[in-house]
Amino acid sequence: MSEVVSRRDFLGLFVAPFQRRAAAPTAPAPSEPVPARVAVIQGRFCLAYRSICSVCVERCPVPGAIVTERGIPRVEAAHCTGCGVCAQVCPAPRNAILQVPRRPAP
Ligand code: SF4
Ligand code: SF4
Repeated sequence: MSEVVSRRDFLGLFVAPFQRRAAAPTAPAPSEPVPARVAVIQGRFCLAYRSICSVCVERCPVPGAIVTERGIPRVEAAHCTGCGVCAQVCPAPRNAILQVPRRPAP
């Protein structure tokens, strides 16, 4: 008899080692400087565009920094601290998340 494993449990096998390594940074206080980096999701590598994945959304330590619309993740730059946790846990074969320098506010 075959055992049924959920997608979340399966992906968790790959994510767990990174979770142990990743610290749990918190959102910057309003008085703190704007983070120098911000996460960017590359849709062409993101599993959510062709299948189902929400690992980055679940693991991001900052509420509201990654949101999903119809299953597709999107980074809210205003909330992202650039901590890099999402990039560390992304299970896509070609990591779908980059940490890029933040553009100065207009
Ligand atoms: S963890 Fe990676 S593959 Fe999964 S939804 Fe986020 S960016 Fe896409
Ligand atoms: S870098 Fe990724 S995990 Fe960290 S706050 Fe930004 S979106 Fe969340």
